[in-house]
Amino acid sequence: MEIIDGKSLAASVRESLKSEVQKLKKKGITPNLAVILVGEDKASQIYVKNKSKACLEVGINYEEFFLTNDTTMEQLLALIDRLNEREDIHGILLQSPMPKHLNIDEAFERISPKKDVDGFNPVNVGKLCLNQEGFVSCTPAGIMKMFEKYNIDIEGKSAVVLGRSNIVGKPMSLCLLNKDATVTICHSKTQNLAEITRNADIIVVALGKAKFLTKDMVKEGAIIIDVGINRTENGLVGDVDFENVKEVASYITPVPGGVGPMTVAMLMSNVVKSAKNFIGG
Ligand code: NAP
Repeated sequence: MEIIDGKSLAASVRESLKSEVQKLKKKGITPNLAVILVGEDKASQIYVKNKSKACLEVGINYEEFFLTNDTTMEQLLALIDRLNEREDIHGILLQSPMPKHLNIDEAFERISPKKDVDGFNPVNVGKLCLNQEGFVSCTPAGIMKMFEKYNIDIEGKSAVVLGRSNIVGKPMSLCLLNKDATVTICHSKTQNLAEITRNADIIVVALGKAKFLTKDMVKEGAIIIDVGINRTENGLVGDVDFENVKEVASYITPVPGGVGPMTVAMLMSNVVKSAKNFIGG
């Protein structure tokens, strides 16, 4: 069994991005990310802080736009329009969740697909669906990078994705399909879920349910990717019962130190990619 070390993998991605950013700066362009945070969600504030730290570390510029809870849809869209127009901004990130009165789908749709470094705009989602080049949602992109770096072959494998959210489950399934896995997507209405997971070569768990995936649901030698982040009395835990599942898995990601750091690294990577696109490669 091997533990996939997302933390050190992310550090090596950031290291190679640093030199790419230096090259871009010599060409007179500094990658610049705009982050919009609406409201006072505590977890979002931590995520945004982590992202800003990571940006600065690789030399990416970072601009924060903190909007109050009572921000209207018109005000939010007007800000997105202004950021879309600014030539010195290469990426726009809208942190979720947003206050309930705002329509997040409409906001994502308004972000220019060229600056959509989170890959949530329908144009980029469509491109992923068609297996075309575009921005891919950072968490699935980070997981695909893990497979690549650990030489994990996906072709022909039976992959099960637990969760069908627009930001993780669905794009994850498409990424795996695009690499020729046979993909099954499970959700809250799925029947006989354990029977499905027991036949899987690869299981990606993105539910938000602490220690949901247990040893008896996993076949010997399966590859286990844990996306879940659950704050419990015993600290941060994933969606996988790590201590027991690791006894049967061939590869497994820990929480923390697995998928999370890779998600942030892929965001940086998408901002650099966007800056390069702006100068034509
Ligand atoms: P989400 O939008 O809440 O979606 C959860 C999914 O799980 C839904 O599709 C839901 O099914 C399904 N589900 C819930 N209970 C289930 C059950 N008992 N059996 C089967 N399926 C069930 O969550 P998300 O945004 O994808 O996030 C999932 C987890 O990943 C969270 O813990 C989140 O914090 C974490 N996360 C981590 C990262 C990272 O970088 N590590 C990034 C993003 C998210 P229905 O569709 O039927 O409701």
